[in-house]
Formats: sequence, structure tokens, C-alpha cells
Amino acid sequence: MSAKRGKRMSGPLRERVLREVVLCDGAIGTTPRRAGLPAGHCAEEWNLTNPEAVAAAHRGYVEAGADVVGANCGGGPAEILAAVQEMHEVASAEPLVAQPNAGKPRLVSSGTALGVTQEVMSFYVPAFLEAGVWLLGACCGSTPAHLRAMASAVAQQTTEASE
Ligand SMILES: [Zn+2]
Repeated sequence: MSAKRGKRMSGPLRERVLREVVLCDGAIGTTPRRAGLPAGHCAEEWNLTNPEAVAAAHRGYVEAGADVVGANCGGGPAEILAAVQEMHEVASAEPLVAQPNAGKPRLVSSGTALGVTQEVMSFYVPAFLEAGVWLLGACCGSTPAHLRAMASAVAQQTTEASE
């Protein structure tokens, strides 16, 4: 792992964030519907059956002015990690953003449940940094406890990277 990956934001992107707004991408989950995916079909399936449409969706955001693309919501840390790892393979120099849900949403009698604990979220932090993620956070189902655990994992990476 490069030392840069484990540190809190530094270098050119940090300089830029301090000076100007950095624009992240827009929705991906609902984009295939607008591009013609029939209702009732699984949007993720388009990664396999229509990868050009998925790439076009990301390209559309870059062409529209997004500085950073990535993955958020929709899946838990394992699913979002797999998505950003693939993005990193095709665009290794580009800054990626990842904000996984605290688990895959599932229906239970009391409503929607997301079952990933803060320990599990923090376990994934090194892999996200390794996958080229510059902006890391969490989405649905996460709490300050999840972010506290993730912040501590980031700090630990920083320490290890500077040793
Ligand atoms: Zn969400």
C-alpha cells in the first residue's frame, strides 16, 4: 500500500477541496431505468448483460463535469468494494468515492433492516483504500458509530503507512 492511501486526505485533491468544490457523480441505480432497463429487471444485471450502458452512465457523469466517480448505497461494503475494485482496474489513476450501506437492505417484519456492524464496516476500510478510494464514507443504515470505527481504521492505516 502506498503511504498516501492510508493518510487523511492530502496532496492535490486536498488542496483542491480547500480551494474549490469537488463534484461527485450522480445516481447509478436509477440510471439503467432511464436508459431502457425494463421495470422488474435487476439493475445490477446490466453490469453483465449491458456493460457498455453502465460504462456510458459513468462517462456521462464525467463528461457532465463530475470530478470523482464511484459507488454508494444499494449494497453493503462487500458489494461496493467489488464495484470500486473493478473501476480501479480500468481507471487506476482516477480518484474514486465509496459510500457503502451498512449491509444489503432486506425486508423484515418491522421494516427494512441493514445488518452490518461498525466492526464489519471498519474491517473493509484497508481494502477500500487499497482499491484507490480517495473519498470514503457510508450510506443507508450507517450511524456515527460506523463512521467512528471507520475513522479509527483510517487512522490505523495512516500509522502503519508511516512506520
Ligand atoms: Zn443510501
